[in-house]
Amino acid sequence: MSRLVLKRGAEARVRAGHPWIYRTQVAELKGAWTAREAVEVVDWAGRLLGRGFYNPRPSLCCRLLTRRDEQVDPGFFRRRIEAAWEQRRAAGLVADAYRLVWSEADGLPGLVVDRYGPVSVVQCLTLGMATAAPWILSALGRLFPDGRALRADDLTAARLEGFEAHQDPPGDELVVTEGDCRFLVTPGAGHKTGLYLDQAHNRGRFARLARGRRVLDAFCFAGGFACRALLAGAAGALLLDLSSDALALARRTLELNAVADRAELREGNAFDLLRALEAADERFGLVVLDPPPFTRRKDAVLAAARGYKEINLRALRLLEPGGVLATFSCSHHVTPGLFEEICREAAGDAGVGARVLATLGQAPDHPVILTIPETRYLTGLLLERPS
Ligand code: SAH
Repeated sequence: MSRLVLKRGAEARVRAGHPWIYRTQVAELKGAWTAREAVEVVDWAGRLLGRGFYNPRPSLCCRLLTRRDEQVDPGFFRRRIEAAWEQRRAAGLVADAYRLVWSEADGLPGLVVDRYGPVSVVQCLTLGMATAAPWILSALGRLFPDGRALRADDLTAARLEGFEAHQDPPGDELVVTEGDCRFLVTPGAGHKTGLYLDQAHNRGRFARLARGRRVLDAFCFAGGFACRALLAGAAGALLLDLSSDALALARRTLELNAVADRAELREGNAFDLLRALEAADERFGLVVLDPPPFTRRKDAVLAAARGYKEINLRALRLLEPGGVLATFSCSHHVTPGLFEEICREAAGDAGVGARVLATLGQAPDHPVILTIPETRYLTGLLLERPS
């Protein structure tokens, strides 16, 4: 087995609970290296820190899989995946559709597994995980003997890590339930692995505010927020998206739930459509803004902040007195503190008071580890315009 020796001092963050090692923190790699075999990671004095997959190509070259002196073999993956399942089962999170494995947060950095009915969608994000895929699939086969698994690797990660992304043909379209709502999903196709599972509990919370209100779902994708709100008694909903495919899916979803007659769908850029709604003096009792990440890079956070501020300013102005805005950012580099700052400026410029009803985050099947801040990416606020 090869050994990755860290420079003096580089062990501090690892000891404080973070699994990442950058190339600049490495003193030397001893012994022959293979992608499949986890390396032993030691500090400058030779003390064991753990084991992890190594890849010389990306600057983030190693992520610890274990802090123990244990084999990273098929049994290891079986134990980790079963633990992730047990944690969710005990917490009541095993649903029709849920995230089973959330990378670093489940001690499996570089692996995401989402469940849709009987189908597991496996996404490998590192070279090491891609080489371990047969072990992962076999662990899933043991845990879910009647199900099937398909691979939907992330293309960007594959390029960065230098492996060939494995993407199985998507599965058949399924219907999964979330609360009283039915969603159409083609596992392994479309956005994410099929659905935005990270918003499931926020959609439920949103729906509980919906009775009798007119709803605006900007950036709607499959229309999950609007659909759940309509089922909960919203008076009507307007859904906006840039993508005609997304709107077609949203329409089918609304029809499946027999609420399409109270919904209107509009294709276009939400930045323009929100401005037009404001100009037309439209008002809504409940608004959700769930845009795609406006930046994936740290150095573009300022530009992203301008985008978030703009849409939040518009949305706050569109609220009727007593109306509520659920607003989100899923940009990794926009922290909850920064997002709150952006929304504060938006409210200030909009001249609208905003009571913070709640701070929002990703669903609990996407756990956040305190010592690994990168496990948190979705942040949000529930804001009420005073009457
Ligand atoms: N709220 C959804 C997920 C939204 S994903 C859910 O709960 O399932 C973000 C969506 O924003 C995508 O469907 C994408 O097509 C859309 N989008 C991206 N840029 C946009 C823009 N400028 N205007 C409107 N929609 C946009």
